[in-house]
Amino acid sequence: MVKSLYAKLALVLFVLLAIAGVLYVQLTLFTTRRYVEEVNQRLNHDLAAHLVADRILLRDGKVDRPALEEIFHDLMVIHPQIELYLLGPEGEILAYSAPPGSVERQRVSLAPVRKFLDPASASALPILGDDPRSAGRKVFSAAPILFPGALSTEAGSAGKSAPQGYVYVVLGGEEYDSVANLLEASYVLRLSILAAAGGLVLVLLSGLIVFRFLTRRLRGLAADMERLDASGLPAPETLSSSSSDAGSTGDELEQLSQSFHRMARRIAEQVNEIQEKERLRRELVANVSHDLRTPLASLHGYLETLSLKEGKLAPGEQKQYLEIALRHSERLGRLVSELFELAKLDARETELHRELFSMAELVQDVVQEFQLEAERKNIALHAELPEGLPTVEADIALVERVLENLIENALRHTPEKGSVTVALDRRNGSIGVEVADTGCGIAEDELPRIFGRFYRVQRAEGGELAERCGTGLGLAITKRILELHGTTIEVTSRIGRGSSFRFLLPAR
Ligand code: ADP
Repeated sequence: MVKSLYAKLALVLFVLLAIAGVLYVQLTLFTTRRYVEEVNQRLNHDLAAHLVADRILLRDGKVDRPALEEIFHDLMVIHPQIELYLLGPEGEILAYSAPPGSVERQRVSLAPVRKFLDPASASALPILGDDPRSAGRKVFSAAPILFPGALSTEAGSAGKSAPQGYVYVVLGGEEYDSVANLLEASYVLRLSILAAAGGLVLVLLSGLIVFRFLTRRLRGLAADMERLDASGLPAPETLSSSSSDAGSTGDELEQLSQSFHRMARRIAEQVNEIQEKERLRRELVANVSHDLRTPLASLHGYLETLSLKEGKLAPGEQKQYLEIALRHSERLGRLVSELFELAKLDARETELHRELFSMAELVQDVVQEFQLEAERKNIALHAELPEGLPTVEADIALVERVLENLIENALRHTPEKGSVTVALDRRNGSIGVEVADTGCGIAEDELPRIFGRFYRVQRAEGGELAERCGTGLGLAITKRILELHGTTIEVTSRIGRGSSFRFLLPAR
C-alpha cells in the first residue's frame, strides 16, 4: 500500500498524465486521420468522373469489358493503391480492379455515394463509404454512369434519367489502417507525439519536485506533532526551529505550521508553568506544615508543663511560661492570617479597590503607627515628604499593608541608634516610595530570594529574634500586592550598612 502523501500524490499525477497522454495520442491520431482522409478525398474528388469521362462502361446493364480494362490500365499507371468498382443502379458490385477473390461485399451502400455526388455536401468532406474488401469504411470518389448521350455532370442536377450505375473509386487503399502505419507515414505526427510525451514527462518531473517541496514541510510538521505526542513534554526550542527551515512563504501550510508551533509553545509554557506552580505548592505545604508544627509543639509543651506542675511552679516561672505560650500562639495566628492573605492575593480574589488618595498622608499615618515601637528600640523613624505631591491611584488598604511590611522589616533588622526613613519623590507620572534603613543589610546572593515564600535570611548574630518573629511571607505578600498594581519592587542592600526597598505607584 502506498502510505506517504508524497507517493500518493505522485501516483495520482502519474495516472492523470498517462490518461492525458493516451487521450492526446488518440485525439491526434483521429484528427490526423480525418485530415488525411479529407485532403485525399478533396484532391481526388473528381477522379471517378475523369476516369469515366466519354467512356461507355455499361450498355443496357451489361459491362463493357474492353472499356473497363482500359480504365484499369490507366489506374495502374496513375496510382496502384486506388481500387475501382463498377456498381449497378442499386449499389451491387458488377466488376472491380482489386485482385480477384479479395472482395468481401456483394454490394456497397449508395447513401454515402449520393451524399458525395450532392454538390451541397462538398464542405462535409470526408465522407466515408463502404470498403468492399473489408467490413470498414473508407474515403472514395464516385461518378454516376448515365445512359449514352447524357453528360455525367448533369446527372445530379437533372434527375431526368436515373444512372445506369456508378463508378466507385476507393482511395488510399489499406496503408493508413493501423496506428503504426500512420505514425510511420508522418514525420510531423511522430514529432508532435514525441513533443507531447516530452512535455508530459517534464510536467511529471516538475510535479514530483513541487510535491516533494510541499510535503517536506508537512513531514516536518508531522514529525513535530509526533514528537509532541510521544514526549508529552514539548521543548519549545526544538519546535520553533523546524518552522523556520523552509523560509517564509505565507501560504496555508506556513500558517498551519506557525499556528501549530504557537500552540505547541503555549502548551509547553503552560505545562512548565503548571509544573512550577506544583513545585511551589509542594514547597509551600512542606513549609506551612513545618512552620505550624514548631510553634504548635512548643505551645503544647509549655501548656502541658503548666498543667502538670500546677501549684508547684514559682510565680515568676509560671508567668514566663505563659508569656512564651502566648508568643507562640501569636506567631501561629500571624502565620495563619498571612498564609490566608497570600492565598487570597494568589487567587486574585482580592479585587483591587483603586481610589485616589494622598500617599504623603498615608505614609505619615503608618510612620505614626510605628513611632512607639521605634522609640522603644531607640531607632529614629521619620518620613521625608516633599510638598505638593500629586495623589496616587491604588488600593489604599493594600498599599498600607506594603508600607507596614517594609517598615516592620526595617525596624526589625536595624540595631539601636539606627534610623529608618520613608521617602516619597515625584518621578515622571509616578510617585516613588523608598523605605531605607541603616540596619544589618542583606548579602547580595540572598537578594533575589528574599521575596520568595517562607524565605528567611539565616543570620549568625542578632538574628535570633528576627528568626523567631518572621514568617518569611511578608516580602512575598508585598511583591504580590505590587504585582497586582502592575508595578515591581526593587531592593539594594549592603551588609552592615543597611537596605533600601523602592517601588513606584501611578500618580494622578
Ligand atoms: P519575615 O516576615 O520573616 O521578615 P520577609 O519576607 O518579610 O519575612 O523577609 C524575608 C527575609 O528578608 C527575612 O528573613 C529578612 O531577614 C530579610 N529582610 C527583609 N527586610 C530586611 C531589611 N530591611 N534588612 C535586612 N534584612 C531584611
